[in-house]
Amino acid sequence: MDDRQMIQEIEKLKKEKNIKIFAHNYQNFEVQKIADYTGDSFYLSKLAGEVECDEIVFCGVRFMAETAKIMCSDKKVVLPVEDAECPMAHMVKPEEVLAFKKEHPDFKVVSYVNTTTELKAVSDVCVTSSVAEKVINNMDAQNILFIPDMNLADYISKNVSGKNIVSWNGYCPVHDKVRKEEIFAMRKEHSGYEVLVHPECRREVLQEADFVGSTSAIINYARNSNAPGFIIGTETGVLHALRAENPEKEYELLSASLICYNMKKTTLRDVYDAVSGNGGLVIELDEELAEKARKSLDEMIRLSH
Ligand code: SF4
Repeated sequence: MDDRQMIQEIEKLKKEKNIKIFAHNYQNFEVQKIADYTGDSFYLSKLAGEVECDEIVFCGVRFMAETAKIMCSDKKVVLPVEDAECPMAHMVKPEEVLAFKKEHPDFKVVSYVNTTTELKAVSDVCVTSSVAEKVINNMDAQNILFIPDMNLADYISKNVSGKNIVSWNGYCPVHDKVRKEEIFAMRKEHSGYEVLVHPECRREVLQEADFVGSTSAIINYARNSNAPGFIIGTETGVLHALRAENPEKEYELLSASLICYNMKKTTLRDVYDAVSGNGGLVIELDEELAEKARKSLDEMIRLSH
């Protein structure tokens, strides 16, 4: 079966089985194109609880599919590639968080959405990069343990006041590789372009950027800016949405290292297999654990308003 036939089959099966396809902005272009919804983690996890369908095929990494399942326990959720994992989601263990809490009972635990369900279950509130500052500002706690991303924690600490934020030492292996020298070189080559970067990058990179924000904030910024072009400091998949929305502007990837291999594991064939019920991982979560994790996600939605 060629790609065109596969796309036709996927469309047919989606209607027959009442399936919606979700794809994160970092997915391969052909996967984003076939999706019903594309976006960042906050948008997609919120949407999972709202959209009407019997099944969600979630093209992303495992914690995202688990988050969708937590938000809609009545729906079947399938991750097309079983070993599509985010390494950062495993850089802290629930036992370590529990031990910290025991030692520091005056701290609240804020977990980045890039965490396992087990970690969300031991957190007080979950955040995505698009709402982290707002959520933390709205929390009544002063002492906060932020897990697992140290770069995001560092960025947030600079933008919220009156909070004592202690960070875990996790990081995104993709964004953490970018260096400020790459910005200098790109600016020389593309004069007049603005540099837009994700807060998972290091502080030295954020300091040299024109704008720092989540993938959706970057897309928004590019939409409203008058610059002729942009140097993009986040995963390459976001170029798809940027070019689709503003085809008259130019986009350059800041660094060749901005490719998440786990996000790129999902192919059109995997989506077809998942939609046809012949592949992928059906997400099953322990009910009690999912209930606890749900509380931290509900708290994020409440505090982000
Ligand atoms: S880009 Fe980084 S944080 Fe996002 S899924 Fe890949 S490894 Fe995880």
